Amino acid sequence: SVPTTPLSQMSPDELTAFLDAARSSYDDLTRRGLSLDLTRGKPAPEQLDLADGLMSLPTTTTDSTGTDVRNYGGLQGLGDLRDIFGELLGVHADRLVAGGTSSLVMMRDVLVDLWLKGGPGGGRPWGAEETVKFLCPSPGYDRHFTLTSWFGIENVPVPMTDEGPDLDAVEALVAEDPTIKGMWVVPTYANPTGTVVSDAVAARLAAMPTAADDFTILWDNAYALHHLTDTEHRSADLIGACAEAGHPDRAVMFASTSKISWAGAGVAFLAGSEATVSWYLHHLGQGSIGPDKANHLRHVQLFGSADGVREHMAKHRALIAPKFAAVDKALTHSLAGLGIAEWTRPKGGYFVSLDVLPGTASRVISLAKDAGVALTPAGSAFPGADPEDRNIRLAPTFPPLDSVVEAMEAVATCVRLAAAEKLAG
Ligand code: PLP
Repeated sequence: SVPTTPLSQMSPDELTAFLDAARSSYDDLTRRGLSLDLTRGKPAPEQLDLADGLMSLPTTTTDSTGTDVRNYGGLQGLGDLRDIFGELLGVHADRLVAGGTSSLVMMRDVLVDLWLKGGPGGGRPWGAEETVKFLCPSPGYDRHFTLTSWFGIENVPVPMTDEGPDLDAVEALVAEDPTIKGMWVVPTYANPTGTVVSDAVAARLAAMPTAADDFTILWDNAYALHHLTDTEHRSADLIGACAEAGHPDRAVMFASTSKISWAGAGVAFLAGSEATVSWYLHHLGQGSIGPDKANHLRHVQLFGSADGVREHMAKHRALIAPKFAAVDKALTHSLAGLGIAEWTRPKGGYFVSLDVLPGTASRVISLAKDAGVALTPAGSAFPGADPEDRNIRLAPTFPPLDSVVEAMEAVATCVRLAAAEKLAG
């Protein structure tokens, strides 16, 4: 049975007994020869199967306006697809670009354009500045931080709250420092915390005075439609809020069907003000005559409408919600009441964020590795390192449900052992 006295309140003898028990459970675990992986937020094969209709689409060579998808042209992407996803993402189809398979590539495009050419408002190229800094709400998405850091941009961590980035911290920094050129935000079901940014937070982001006049928010709405419960949170409208606040070019939104259709062969989207969209297309047009419109058309034919996408997402939810429930169940069963871990119960998205006893996250991850359970490296959700060494990102969608259960029992065992070692030592 699981003792539920917080470890910090145990007597030295109780703690020693707890440590001995944790060691012996861990020894049992290592003898099981597990080989499990909770590292990457990938869709499971059954989720990809849902979109296998793509294999025999498109059934025509033209879209509803008669555009021949086999030919060059149409840099902004097929209108029929932009209509569907414009409705879903809350932007007019004219302000939406449908591109290749990866929104991360579009984020890199935008940064390259800012770096070499300056923003839509005609500011200096960022590459001409001595120092460029970017705010990184943390914990956040590791690939965002890798990307800005690759440019030589200095990543500045800001804390996450339950409502999104800590706006008091953000406002104070951007008001003073003109080298802070922008920030990352995952507004809906954030990676990894599951946080949803409210309209009020978006309005503050849109209106806040910034020392840099080309301050740019990369609004990565990767999980806009990825609900795990009946409450389908509508994404905050940053683009609209920026227009209202008189900073129309501040927001660039990204999204993709990577976790709707196929992660390796979906469609990515970018949205922004009229000026932002023409700026992006102008630069894109220097190296492209048009995107894969046949892929756009087969997505139009697979989904049919925005409601078709919503129905499709309900099927994803049915496959992955049980895995999230299993994570919570295993953690609650083994860790509740011990005062050594807290975790999120996300209402959408792809991750659970687990905070363990400060100073033990890397130990937990290395114990898990030795027991055959791969977890994302410690600190990966922070630019640089996790200052408290306490955050672990769990990605339960890819493995089968029974493997998720097994892996999470193993993780909980490692959390208990690492905490006991730390408190007893
Ligand atoms: N943005 C976030 C927040 C993600 O978590 C991911 C993938 O995990 C991506 C973007 C990748 O998007 P894409 O597949 O469109 O490049």
